[in-house]
Amino acid sequence: MSSAITLDPDTITSLPSPRFRKLSNSRPQPFNPCHGCGACCSHFRVSFYSGELEGETGGWVPVSLVTQVGPLRAAMKGTEDGGGRCIGLKGDLGLSNVRCGIYELRPSVCRDYEPYNERGEPNPDCQRLRTAIGLSLLDDLSGRDLAA
Ligand code: SF4
Ligand code: SF4
Repeated sequence: MSSAITLDPDTITSLPSPRFRKLSNSRPQPFNPCHGCGACCSHFRVSFYSGELEGETGGWVPVSLVTQVGPLRAAMKGTEDGGGRCIGLKGDLGLSNVRCGIYELRPSVCRDYEPYNERGEPNPDCQRLRTAIGLSLLDDLSGRDLAA
């Protein structure tokens, strides 16, 4: 997967990040930067191929939580216009209780968006969004022995 993460209104995060989980699983005390954040889930338009909707072959995203935004595109309710809170987001933005309420059923676009690239460099969009809600910047983990 590309490490380049650009500001794209059609992209959104995984919460938490599979990649970061993989990295952090090797750490003595794993932590996930998405815990206590959720900023991206209240910023981007979370749209995806409607073939991911339940009822479609192999689909899984609950239809009741989405808006059809094109012939083959759906968006998580609340995010259709960007800048809105995803209906799946539970808890309080920036606090420890924030989480994805449909984690196992979230669309692929959420699974693919990550706070770190494979080199351990923070996603600059995360830095910007975290700053906007008063959270600290993510540490740059590049150069660290993440496999130790
Ligand atoms: S903005 Fe970044 S750190 Fe915050 S929840 Fe989204 S992916 Fe995680
Ligand atoms: S489905 Fe979950 S991970 Fe995706 S934007 Fe909504 S709350 Fe965030």
